[in-house]
Amino acid sequence: MTRSDQPSAVSLQPTGHHPLGAYVHIPFCRQRCHYCSFNTGPYRPAAMDRFLAALLREIDRGGEAEWAGRVTIGTVFFGGGTPSLLEPEELETLLDRLGKRFALAPSAEVTVECNPESLTRDKAEGYRLAGVNRLSLGVQSLDAGLLVRLGRLHSPEEARRAFEAARDAGVDNLSVDLIYGLPDLDLPGWEATVRGALAWGPEHLSAYGLTLDEGSRWHGEGVAGLPDEETVTAQYWSLARLAREAGYEHYEISNYARHGFRSRHNQVYWRAEEYLGLGPGACGFLGGVRYGNVKPVERYCAMLDAGTLPIGTHEILTAAQRKAERRILGLRLSDGVPFAWLEDKAPLVESWKELGLLEVADDRCRLTEAGFLLSDSLFVELLEPRS
Ligand code: SF4
Repeated sequence: MTRSDQPSAVSLQPTGHHPLGAYVHIPFCRQRCHYCSFNTGPYRPAAMDRFLAALLREIDRGGEAEWAGRVTIGTVFFGGGTPSLLEPEELETLLDRLGKRFALAPSAEVTVECNPESLTRDKAEGYRLAGVNRLSLGVQSLDAGLLVRLGRLHSPEEARRAFEAARDAGVDNLSVDLIYGLPDLDLPGWEATVRGALAWGPEHLSAYGLTLDEGSRWHGEGVAGLPDEETVTAQYWSLARLAREAGYEHYEISNYARHGFRSRHNQVYWRAEEYLGLGPGACGFLGGVRYGNVKPVERYCAMLDAGTLPIGTHEILTAAQRKAERRILGLRLSDGVPFAWLEDKAPLVESWKELGLLEVADDRCRLTEAGFLLSDSLFVELLEPRS
């Protein structure tokens, strides 16, 4: 492994075996949620304008690479931050520029993460007309008190209205994000949120257990009322059951989809395929190099003003690291990985099978739902040299 924190001291060269994903980070929010550790700062119109000019420059710079004409972009994901702070015209400009500098596949999946309070019917329609074909709505909970406690700016009713507005605007691929393991959230409360969100009929559901990562307010100050492990586990299992009963496939540890509606963009990550990272703090993976853009928005803009790509760190993965990464990422998916990828871990595979954490069929190894639940510790075991 070679690591460097020298800006731009790396030459990126995708293999081009698959269409690339493109992650575009929009680093502003109207208010910071108490559990949030993402690279985001306060929204100011002038700061957004300056950032968007820099982002267009970054796309232009990327498009100058000699390989830019040889690759196709198959998925675009606008994440944040709050990408739904963008006006449809701004989003259209970004997509047009991406399509001019790279080949954007006509069938590309284009997703925008939206916060309910900043999504109206007109905006959703504007996004759709600009080329967006998937929206991911950050609902998190349908408990009014919990939403306030989380520092969210929307109520349960506003979340439902935003979902319906997107449907009215003709968006036929909608995902809903939820969080379990929240302070003072009991099992009936969680099931009410899951049932409520499933009743809207989203094509896709993401549900993550709360983590208090460094950089979040709750990590620094602590938070009272966190449920015990048994309750969190019960919430995971009730989610898996309710989603299954409603016809969703549990296709990744934290993700559920109706048939044909898996997130294509996220599957690029889980299949260890290549992607561009654009925007402050965005990460990319091209030709065996993992890289990250500088995080502070002002530094990002200044580097692009100076004509420099804003890459802050990079890591050249060895063949062994890539293999280890591929199998861990692959095991996140219900598709699992070829049995041959785990042949050197036969005793571990055997013990997981006996514990009901893994199944082997059709020459593939797949984690079970019980295995998904324990995946963090299973992946640690997998990385141990003598396991
Ligand atoms: S959780 Fe999302 S909406 Fe909340 S502050 Fe973080 S990035 Fe913004």
